[in-house]
Amino acid sequence: VIEIKNIRKDFGKRTVLKDVNFDVYEKEVVSIIGSSGSGKSTLLRCINLLEKPTSGQVLIHGKDAMAGDVSLVTLREKVGMVFQQFNLFNNLSVLENCVIGQMKVLKKSRDEAEKIARKFLAKVGMERFVHAKPNQISGGQKQRVAIARALAMQPEVLLFDEPTSALDPEMVGEVLKVMKDLAKSGLTMIVVTHEMDFAHDVSSRVVFMDQGIIVEDDKPENIFENPKHERTKEFLSRML
Ligand code: ATP
Ligand code: MG
Repeated sequence: VIEIKNIRKDFGKRTVLKDVNFDVYEKEVVSIIGSSGSGKSTLLRCINLLEKPTSGQVLIHGKDAMAGDVSLVTLREKVGMVFQQFNLFNNLSVLENCVIGQMKVLKKSRDEAEKIARKFLAKVGMERFVHAKPNQISGGQKQRVAIARALAMQPEVLLFDEPTSALDPEMVGEVLKVMKDLAKSGLTMIVVTHEMDFAHDVSSRVVFMDQGIIVEDDKPENIFENPKHERTKEFLSRML
């Protein structure tokens, strides 16, 4: 579905991504792991062009998004994103948060958008909170709403940037459970995470990044039980 070719990203004089190559196939769940500052978020943000790579290509179904072969609107429709800080609209209800994008971007009628929103809110166990405002629900609940909102746009790929890192420990499980169910349902997902159990148990592939490069990209059992590179071993010994 997605091909990242020779992506480089500079911020001023600093090179944050160096020659990153990376493909994601349909129904894959790819976890991206690595230390703070290694470029994980930047890579994720380059995939949907929230960040414009300095050079390289982002292809979606073979079409070059940076060259404009797919529009930004289409790209963001196909590639959804869930953020660490939820990014819900605090002045809108839970339901409205999941309706507004469908109406504005997908041009759905209110009736249809509400129906779809309710379906995905039920899927994440938040159907009882449709009329609540984000400040009336917990962090774990907010993240589940953010996931429902992303799903309501019916993306082909969903990106997650440390979706559980801002949560109190007791709420991490409920969000991981939802993500695990999505993975099982066949959604294509790219997940930046510090949750090594999720990376190990749920992903079909794990990408280890260090200092702006992909050091290792392999099946979880190879990364965790038989890492090839010193840097991967060193990182895992700190994490596990
Ligand atoms: P973390 O685990 O802490 O989230 P990360 O792997 O996601 O880290 P990035 O956020 O991608 O790392 O950042 C990689 C490097 O790029 C960091 O050194 C960061 O300071 C730098 N960086 C990121 N965004 C910008 C920006 N908008 N302007 C300048 N530098 C940036
Ligand atoms: Mg990050």
